[in-house]
Amino acid sequence: MEEHIHKHVDEDMLSVEDALTSILQHFQKLPTTNKPILETLGYTLATDIYSSINLPPTPNSGMDGYAVIANDVAGYTESNPITLKVIGTVPAGSVPTITVSHGTAVRIMTGASIPYGATAVVPFEETDEVSRLSNNVSLEEISINTKIPEGANIRAAAEDVKIGDLILESNISIRQQEIAVLASLGLSHAEVIRKPVVGVISTGDELTELGQNLGHSKIYDSNSYGLCAAIQASGGIAKRIGIAEDTLEDLEKAINACYDCDLILTSAGVSKGDYDFVKEVLTKNGEMNFWSVRMRPAKPLAFGIINIKGTTIPLIGLPGNPVSALVAFEMFGRPSILKMRGKQKLNRTIVSGTLNGTIHNFDGRRVYARVVVSESNSGFIATPTGPQGSNILTSMSKSNGLAICPENETSKQNGDTVKIIMTDWNEEVT
Ligand code: AMP
Ligand code: MG
Repeated sequence: MEEHIHKHVDEDMLSVEDALTSILQHFQKLPTTNKPILETLGYTLATDIYSSINLPPTPNSGMDGYAVIANDVAGYTESNPITLKVIGTVPAGSVPTITVSHGTAVRIMTGASIPYGATAVVPFEETDEVSRLSNNVSLEEISINTKIPEGANIRAAAEDVKIGDLILESNISIRQQEIAVLASLGLSHAEVIRKPVVGVISTGDELTELGQNLGHSKIYDSNSYGLCAAIQASGGIAKRIGIAEDTLEDLEKAINACYDCDLILTSAGVSKGDYDFVKEVLTKNGEMNFWSVRMRPAKPLAFGIINIKGTTIPLIGLPGNPVSALVAFEMFGRPSILKMRGKQKLNRTIVSGTLNGTIHNFDGRRVYARVVVSESNSGFIATPTGPQGSNILTSMSKSNGLAICPENETSKQNGDTVKIIMTDWNEEVT
């Protein structure tokens, strides 16, 4: 409540950009690892991929039909149909041994190598094959019902890929089409940037583990679960340590369990008014900064480097409120993970849309309002998903975007154009 009457702008607050820049300095691209291609979805490719084969390897047919000499059918008219002698068949995968000479054709299937001599393929539909079959007429001959240009329906050797070509560049994200391309080149494995391991620790004496009875004045630990899911959604590997009790030993034990992590996330205990325990333990074990970031939700944020048995690991201390924890992860945790994964684009796609509601900004912070974004004829519409308190987790669940009211504006009104960070494009959110 105090925030509502607190109108002056706190000059000690850090902008979101400055906080992010300070944080990102401490992360770099992780080392590479070799993986079977089916395990590389979403990874960043670590090497340039050159081809050692031509694709297609041989000229082959683009249709089921008849391989012919195009000149042989050049004189076709309805009154002068061309009939060719069928001298064989080439199924896909077989090596053609017959040569097409004038007056002959070879029945050929899609993907089969073009026999010597042939200069075009006439599709079945342009022949009388179907009527021959239904009238029990022999397929030793075939009548062609069209003229056909030279090269028609022949896929040239190496028209897609030439030996020595650069096919995939390092640093791209691997999607299904890249996995298909790797397979088409015969590559069973790829060198990719390994995924960061991120440790997650919840702190707070009010927290209860799932499966336990909820005591009076207690709540379930939702942050560590939401954060672990957010880590996975960002392409990281989550290592859930769980709830650290408010004792020096327990919190240090939880931190020490993150010895093999590339990043540690804690939640709660980092705001100004907080009982100093978490801050004290973090400060004792590393070099920590405790910031106020000019944003709502998620103003309190800690960032620094923790020492665990001689290694140093970056730690982001997220606020405890469930929405704040997820929004702070979105703004600072996700880009850190993406940077370690070697991604070039660290930010989400931002769109403009029309606000269907109001966003209040009473103390000069940048407000990220939970909205559901839908499409209309006049563009995107952003509708706030309900109460915007930083403890209202369900309004986060209904959202697929965060609409922004900038620091220097006191509100965004119904009908105003707003920038929206698209946190999801999924069809499930409507
Ligand atoms: P704090 O940052 O410690 O001031 O906590 C702010 C609010 O977040 C309090 O209402 C806490 O009960 C709540 N909170 C802290 N940790 C968690 C958690 N792991 N899961 C859900 N709520 C939490
Ligand atoms: Mg607390």
